[in-house]
Amino acid sequence: MFSARILPSFKRTAFTQSKRLSSQLSASKLKVKKADALKPLVANNELIFGHTFTDHMITANWDEKNGWAAPEIRPYENLSLAPSAVVFHYASECFEGMKAYKDEHGKIRLFRPDMNMARMNRSTSRIALPNFDGDELIKIIGEYLKTDERWIPEGKGYSLYLRPTMIGTQEILGVNAPTKALLFVIGCPVGPYYKTGFNAVRLLATTEYVRAWPRGTGEAKIGGNYAPGLLPQRLAAQKGYQQNLWLFGEEHSLTEVGTMNLFILMKNDNGELELVTPPLDGSILPGVTRDSIISLAKEWKEFEVKERPMTMPQLRDLIKEGRVVEMFGCGTACVVSPIKEIGYLGEDIKVPLDPKDPNSQAGPYTRRFNDAINAIQYGEVEHPWSVVVE
Ligand SMILES: *Cc1c(COP(=O)(O)O)cnc(C)c1O
Repeated sequence: MFSARILPSFKRTAFTQSKRLSSQLSASKLKVKKADALKPLVANNELIFGHTFTDHMITANWDEKNGWAAPEIRPYENLSLAPSAVVFHYASECFEGMKAYKDEHGKIRLFRPDMNMARMNRSTSRIALPNFDGDELIKIIGEYLKTDERWIPEGKGYSLYLRPTMIGTQEILGVNAPTKALLFVIGCPVGPYYKTGFNAVRLLATTEYVRAWPRGTGEAKIGGNYAPGLLPQRLAAQKGYQQNLWLFGEEHSLTEVGTMNLFILMKNDNGELELVTPPLDGSILPGVTRDSIISLAKEWKEFEVKERPMTMPQLRDLIKEGRVVEMFGCGTACVVSPIKEIGYLGEDIKVPLDPKDPNSQAGPYTRRFNDAINAIQYGEVEHPWSVVVE
């Protein structure tokens, strides 16, 4: 039975507050229309990130007057939108990236999905799209995962990548907050990010372009943040660097790596190990993986964890003094991505990987974070972060 929910768990903007009495997104209203013909599955060893999509998708329409319409699970197909739809002109779009895993008992698991829902609601708020009840979307995603269960690949390293998205759809060119929106979720089976063990990356510390800035939108997962990064990424690739190391300000403060958060394991002034990551100052995307690594490191109590600013010249000096132990980027797609070199102002600076093994592509701590998070994601250890889809 549907009951008007007036208990959203997220801070609401003034914009959505006035819509309290309109319908909330509700899993109890879910409609399911199955595809007539199912697509052939893709073999695990042929999966390429983001290329294959499952048989179904979730959609839910919203409008200012009525709120959320009944969500649907329906065949994966093209959307039909007017060329005047606001998303095509003013980038009214935000998204999430999360994964569903099959554990060794065949159970479907999500990793900290509440964090993705909370972040998506912060993203929608930032671009004046509507909020929704994240717990309800998690339930709908659960039904979707059961519907498309055959698409969740089995085996460690394999998962179904989920892409919840919201777009503004009203057909008016005026620059105004959307009065109509579409929430959708698509899924694609993905394999391990590193097929043959880790592959450490070279970064170009980018001084010509800035990804995000304090009080801007860097902390929101909105489409508008990503297109401007594509040219700098291509320029870095042409010079042989896999990712941009994004800097900010005249002092070249470290922020993020490509679309990942950045971690530096180093020795502090007393020679003790310290894990450093730039603080969430508004320009940094608050990654679920970032938060998980900070929490694990605090549990381990083997080294201090510091969310503090660091500049590129400071990092360069620390590396040259031999005080940087390991560096890595982190995010849902790869968990961790070890860093082996940074190009900065014409100089290539080598970052250590594994002191014990010159051929290794990842340091021991980087591996340990990866393995600890993987073990939770695949339900190998009991942990409240791993949520079984019942
Ligand atoms: C998505 C994203 C991350 C990583 O976030 P996770 O929740 O760990 O996947 C980091 N930085 C940027 C810019 C991102 O878009």
